Amino acid sequence: MKIGIDIDGIIADFVSSFLPYLNKYCKCKVEDIVSYDFEKNIDISHENIEKLWKEVESNKIYSDLSLVKNSKMALEILARENRIYLISSRKKEFHKDTLTWLRRNKIPFDRLILTNGLKDKISSMKKCDIVIEDSLEVARILEAQGIPVLLFEYPWSRIGKKIKFVKNWKQAIKQIKALSR
Ligand SMILES: [Mg+2]
Repeated sequence: MKIGIDIDGIIADFVSSFLPYLNKYCKCKVEDIVSYDFEKNIDISHENIEKLWKEVESNKIYSDLSLVKNSKMALEILARENRIYLISSRKKEFHKDTLTWLRRNKIPFDRLILTNGLKDKISSMKKCDIVIEDSLEVARILEAQGIPVLLFEYPWSRIGKKIKFVKNWKQAIKQIKALSR
């Protein structure tokens, strides 16, 4: 089988390294990150999000991420009998950093595809027999096109476009604020 595997949240623990940068602009925990679309869900201005990403990217965050628990072992098992396509929406300029990180961690794969956004990520993933993702948005689009998806459960993958789980009133208020923006 050809298995399409996302990188951030699936192999690399992006959020743990990202959180200290985010916390300079707003105090939040992993549970508060209910979408990768930070502006809609976290109290941070568009201007600060741009500043934050510049800071994150200039500090070469992708070179220094931790592995998601058991990801290396899982990929070693899967790579024995399948073709592994690592497909990420990271910017193409981070291809070298990503490759160095994968090699340093001895992650087995057949191809690395960075797509600089979701549109090309989805078209690459559509060519796979199964996809492993942590983005609900991507999973829903692929599912609608008949691609089987394993969606890792995280605070940001539990939320839907129309139906949103809320654990408590604090989260409910946050969601209502996001909708009324
Ligand atoms: Mg991801």
